[in-house]
Order: sequence, then C-alpha cells, then structure tokens
Amino acid sequence: MGKFPLADAELAKISICKRCKGRNHAGAEKCRRCGYRALRPKKKDIKTKK
Ligand SMILES: [Zn+2]
Repeated sequence: MGKFPLADAELAKISICKRCKGRNHAGAEKCRRCGYRALRPKKKDIKTKK
C-alpha cells in the first residue's frame, strides 16, 4: 500500500524549468513561462511497467 502508479505516471509527464521552476509537459523543448530551454524531469528515474 502507499503506492500510486497513476500519480507516478502523471509526474513522469512533467518537466520542471531550471530557471523559474515552472511546470511543463515532459515533451516540451522550452519553458512555456520564461522560454528557458533547460528543463529537467520531475522524477529522476522513470520506471516503465511492462
Ligand atoms: Zn521557465
């Protein structure tokens, strides 16, 4: 218990802007707020369930 696969999947779709900490979709090439191109994934390691 305590695991939420669906929530993890949602987090995996999010990238965080290194400059303004704005949330972007994981596939975004640049931040939609400030235009900064350095985005990092919300989660370090994304595990895919087979
Ligand atoms: Zn930004």
